[in-house]
Amino acid sequence: MLLAGLVGFLLIERSDLNRSVAELSRVQALEGKARELSLYVQYNAHDTNAYTLGHVEHRLEYVSHAERFNRVVRDIEHDLSRSSLDQTIELTLNPIRPTRARYERASERLFRAADRNRRAPAAMNQQRQDAAWEQTDKLGDQLDDHSQVLARALGTKARVLQGGIDERNDQILAIVLALALMVGLLVMVIQSAVGRAKTAAQASRRRAEAVLSQNQSILNAAGEGILGIDSDGLITFVNPAGSLMTGYEVEELVGQSKRDMIHHSRPDGTPYPDQGSPVSMSLRDGTVQHADDEAYWRKDGSSFPVEYTITPITEGDRVTGAVVVFKDITERREMERTKDEFTAVVSHELRTPLTSIRGSLGLLESGVLGPLPEKGQRMVEIAVQNTDRLVRLINDILDIERIASGTIDMQQELCDGAELVERSVQGVAQLAADAQVSLVTEGERVALFADPDRVVQTLTNLISNAVKFSPPGACVRVSSAAREGEALFEVADEGRGIPTANLESIFERFQQVDASDSREKGGTGLGLAICQTIVEHHGGRIWVNSTAGVGSTFSFVLPAVKGERVLAAEAASGDGPLVLVCDDDASVVEVVGAMLTQRGYRVIEAHSGEQALQRALDERPDAILLDLLMPGMSGWETAAALKRHPETDDIPVVILSVFSEGESEAPDGPVVSWLEKPLDERALFEALEHAVNPHGEPFKVLIVEDDPDLAEILTAMFERHGIVSWMAGDGREAIELSQRVLPDLLVLDIGLPEADGFEVVDWLRRHERLRAVPLVVYTARELEEHDRERLRLGATTEFLTKGRITPQDFEQRVMRLLGRLTREPAVPVR
Ligand code: ADP
Repeated sequence: MLLAGLVGFLLIERSDLNRSVAELSRVQALEGKARELSLYVQYNAHDTNAYTLGHVEHRLEYVSHAERFNRVVRDIEHDLSRSSLDQTIELTLNPIRPTRARYERASERLFRAADRNRRAPAAMNQQRQDAAWEQTDKLGDQLDDHSQVLARALGTKARVLQGGIDERNDQILAIVLALALMVGLLVMVIQSAVGRAKTAAQASRRRAEAVLSQNQSILNAAGEGILGIDSDGLITFVNPAGSLMTGYEVEELVGQSKRDMIHHSRPDGTPYPDQGSPVSMSLRDGTVQHADDEAYWRKDGSSFPVEYTITPITEGDRVTGAVVVFKDITERREMERTKDEFTAVVSHELRTPLTSIRGSLGLLESGVLGPLPEKGQRMVEIAVQNTDRLVRLINDILDIERIASGTIDMQQELCDGAELVERSVQGVAQLAADAQVSLVTEGERVALFADPDRVVQTLTNLISNAVKFSPPGACVRVSSAAREGEALFEVADEGRGIPTANLESIFERFQQVDASDSREKGGTGLGLAICQTIVEHHGGRIWVNSTAGVGSTFSFVLPAVKGERVLAAEAASGDGPLVLVCDDDASVVEVVGAMLTQRGYRVIEAHSGEQALQRALDERPDAILLDLLMPGMSGWETAAALKRHPETDDIPVVILSVFSEGESEAPDGPVVSWLEKPLDERALFEALEHAVNPHGEPFKVLIVEDDPDLAEILTAMFERHGIVSWMAGDGREAIELSQRVLPDLLVLDIGLPEADGFEVVDWLRRHERLRAVPLVVYTARELEEHDRERLRLGATTEFLTKGRITPQDFEQRVMRLLGRLTREPAVPVR
């Protein structure tokens, strides 16, 4: 500010000074001219004097000098009128003109007197001449004085001006000095500021260097390998751990492409594709890339399993590079393997005894071993419920474990959505009936390529949840449908619903809406997590919509098979013997039908004698259950009609009546047994087994199981069906017994002392008479596909996992298998 003021002031002073200097030079010029006037006055005096002395030519000189005098006076007047000179000057100028005029006149008189005196020299004329000369000379002196006065006044003025100029010069000098001083000060201030800034910069550089060296130490000390990558994908930095892990010196890696050096091939040795390497994807899209199932390659050509994260470095919108952090996970893999082994051992060790416990409890509960006191019955029920819960928990934990470790085996095949829905609903029908919840299926046929057992597992879990959380009397709808290239499955309930806040979290492990759910509803909190993993494994999605208090709908989609939306319809579902149930009482047909279906029979219904005859002709059932007292065509008439038709005369008929056998006339027809209402379940099955297996010879089953408890339970189970069983506790015994017994069915555990299950199967395969024996592999081990291949025997081999299916399911599936065998011509030699 001050500096600017001074500079402004300096500029003003400068322009004033310039003006004063111009004024001075003008005044000085006027002063010169004023002195010139005095000169001309003196010339005039000389000229007039010379004329008096007879020098006539001086008259002309006089005129010329007089003219010059007058011109100079005009010049002075002109100049004075342009300048602002003070009055003093003008006052000194004023007398000059009148004095000059008087001088002129006096001179004229002198010239005339001199002329007369020259022509007539006389004393008188001389006197007149002298008087005129005196007058002229006096006026000349006056004029000279006036001129001098003017010159002096101008000289004074010039000096005043000069003084002003000098003063102004001094001022300017002072200002310049002040300015110089200030600029000097300013320079000093700037210098000190620059100095301070320099010191601060040095300090911050030192700090930055300290941070840099700290970062460097961290990078050097880090256990993970760290690589810096530039925008061209070339390595710019490697920390010592990275160099150690890969076996390359830092200098060997810097400037090279990461892909070329350490990530050129997949773990199986096949080359990594040029496009789509994780680094290039991160650089291109600015995305973070992570993997834990790949390999990096060392300088010596070996590889190691690696987990890495690639994080892009961005400046504004631009990706300028990336940082790769990686670690060798060989040890972790080893630990995972150990954990898997441990899990497998636990699964076997826990599943087998649990299967025994559950089997014995089931037998106790069903009352086949004799009635229990009421309290005992209740205790057994509690034990059954909790064993089931334990089995579920173990299965869920194992499932989650296997899915997480990626060892789960998905056997994908072409299947029909509607059929999967049907299978799932059948599996939970009892649970729903117990909870008094009705199940409604709306299965639209849709072809999908999936692991049917896993889809059924998912549906079963969702339906069981729906049943569990529904009040008695509610309805659960299960549907399949084709939707925009996908198979959509839905399980909708009218239960308690799920709060909005939990809609996402319930798909996570051990997440339940209410902590009491696991206790009261017998849940583990793992079911939905398993469902989600299975669905996602198939490339599908799962979600839930729910309104608290109104109900929930769980939905999932799986990719459908294009162009094959409708599958070829199978002749009939299931593969057990076909039984025609005929009764005019619809509830009898329904209950008996359900019992038979449970046991693996296929059922067709008839509500009158006419209908029974027609269906028997059309579908040729393996046996007919026939009521006697029916409106229209009675049981007796129906039996007789069946006998008359050659297509139906050999179909065994089991009478089901309120009459006992002796109480009423026996119908004339292929009647093999007579059952009395109310129905005894055991008698029903015995009669039917006898009907479909008319030779009457009991089936023989060889049970190969090293756990004697479980073997005993299985034996008891078969006994219920009139099946004879032998037990073998190890592989060698199994081989010996199979030669003696020639079983109709072999139930085989895999983990056995002496020779294991694989060896038993190898041995059987080598023997003509045994290689066709139907086999049920019943093991706690989860078998991989290659294991299953090794174990397949004859035309029928079923794989059942202990703990994975309930003892009831086991019983049902084995009975169904036996039922099927009776209808097939390739029944093993007995
Ligand atoms: P759980 O074995 O406990 O049933 P899930 O993972 O199958 O485990 O389910 C997690 C939780 O989600 C359940 O405990 C329950 O709180 C809630 N849930 C699941 N299905 C339903 C449903 N249909 N209605 C209400 N709540 C449900």
